Amino acid sequence: MRLNALSCVALPTCGLALAESERALPEILEKFELVLDEAGLHDDAISLRVTGCPNGCARPYLAEIGLVGKAPHKYALYLGAKYNGTRLNRLVSPSITIDDAVKLLTPIIKRYAVERKDGEGFGDFCDREIIPRTRRFIASGR
Ligand code: SF4
Repeated sequence: MRLNALSCVALPTCGLALAESERALPEILEKFELVLDEAGLHDDAISLRVTGCPNGCARPYLAEIGLVGKAPHKYALYLGAKYNGTRLNRLVSPSITIDDAVKLLTPIIKRYAVERKDGEGFGDFCDREIIPRTRRFIASGR
């Protein structure tokens, strides 16, 4: 994940930034790496991209896990892009803290570790298993 991660510069360089990105990336990666280690996925190439605002200079909408700054300490969470960039991800949470995003993703990453099909990327797994359920949940109005 660390080798694949991207962020935009955001604060303090970019005047359009709504949240931290480049400066927060090392800490964000450490939190996700703990989960990956627990799931036995330390060496899996899952793409994570973070930006400080929706302009998306680090292409967060093509990440398997995309975090887009909305306000100080708050990010929109996107999941399900294809690793090779041929499918965009989908909005899963419009505003979430990094800690809550890690909490939300922990059981999903652990499920991915045991339920993935041969050669299935994390984005593919989310597109198959998580996005449809999220949409049904939203459509149900609960
Ligand atoms: S995504 Fe937004 S905050 Fe990041 S560099 Fe681009 S304009 Fe600035």
